[in-house]
Amino acid sequence: MQNYHRKRIIVTGGAGFLGSHLCKKLLEEGNDVICLDNFFTGTKDNIIPLMDNHHFEVIRHDVVHPIFLEADEIYNLACPASPPHYQFNPIKTTKTSVMGAINMLGLAKRVKAKFLQASTSEVYGDPEVHPQLESYWGNVNPIGFRSCYDEGKRCAETLCFDYHRENKVAIKVVRIFNTYGPNMHPNDGRVVSNFIVQALKGQDITIYGDGSQTRSFCFVSEMIDGFVRMMNSDEEFTGPVNMGNPGEFTIKEQKKKIVEMTGSKSNLIYKPLPHDDPQQRQPDISLAKEKLGWEPKIVLDEGLKQTISYFDDLVRQGRA
Ligand code: NAD
Ligand code: UDP
Repeated sequence: MQNYHRKRIIVTGGAGFLGSHLCKKLLEEGNDVICLDNFFTGTKDNIIPLMDNHHFEVIRHDVVHPIFLEADEIYNLACPASPPHYQFNPIKTTKTSVMGAINMLGLAKRVKAKFLQASTSEVYGDPEVHPQLESYWGNVNPIGFRSCYDEGKRCAETLCFDYHRENKVAIKVVRIFNTYGPNMHPNDGRVVSNFIVQALKGQDITIYGDGSQTRSFCFVSEMIDGFVRMMNSDEEFTGPVNMGNPGEFTIKEQKKKIVEMTGSKSNLIYKPLPHDDPQQRQPDISLAKEKLGWEPKIVLDEGLKQTISYFDDLVRQGRA
């Protein structure tokens, strides 16, 4: 039993891109933070700046196994997020999403903690509805190369709602659209990190397909603000709620911006489109605006400036 005002908050996947920013924000807000991570895609570099804070703990732990801790809130982010990483060991990816959700929801049930699930726009698959609203059930291939991630995340949402209905667990489900910023892994394989690192190193910039597919890109600080608002929202608001920046760009437009901003002389090369790569994606964020007063304001140029500066440092230090 903890008898002072600090909340005890678990962040699974806390050493990853989004998790490390979330741990930092929760510490700044005066909480005790426990980061659980198996360091599959996360790195100690992301959390070293937090290690001096005595209210921060790190436990090397794989969420497919149960863990017994006390907590007031749990943010469940553990899962590789980039297509090359989640397809590296697809069975493990499904286990992480499904077993991880069962274990962390079980913990939330036992200690009566609030539980936020990092879900994804991938639950919509290759959407036939545009922009995507939370009421859309999606167009997902259940047997493809992306299915380990998409279906794992869909099952995790199902588990959240069943623990809520059966066991009264206070759940918050956030459907995250593409997010970018400092602390992304340089070899992550996602479009923003790939293009920036390639541009800075003068390597060929790899466009998959013809580059006409679209994505919407949210800067990390705004996404993290959204998570915390969601966790602190009225208990009856469970979500799912879309979070992302509705500004929609083709991958070719994204490449053009990054080349201009870095002054790169890189060549462009085209590679085959990955299996089941969604053609378009844009969040409808009316629900987040109405329920949470949340709306991203940082435009792509501004967010890219900060992200380029982060990767520029890594390249100069020989870490990318
Ligand atoms: P990331 O790969 O940087 O972070 C994931 C973290 O989870 C890493 O630190 C990794 O080591 C850890 N992890 C993976 N498997 C684990 C396991 N079995 N046990 C314990 N830890 C494990 O990815 P991210 O971009 O920070 O994504 C965080 C969460 O947000 C993920 O659940 C992802 O699906 C979701 N999400 C992210 C985006 C995005 O654009 N960044 C979009 C949609 C959803
Ligand atoms: N993409 C690309 N070149 C790259 C990496 C990605 O053209 O080097 C494309 C990819 O095919 C997809 C889009 O960029 O259409 C976004 O890919 P990412 O892996 O970042 O995220 P997701 O597909 O999960 O939205």
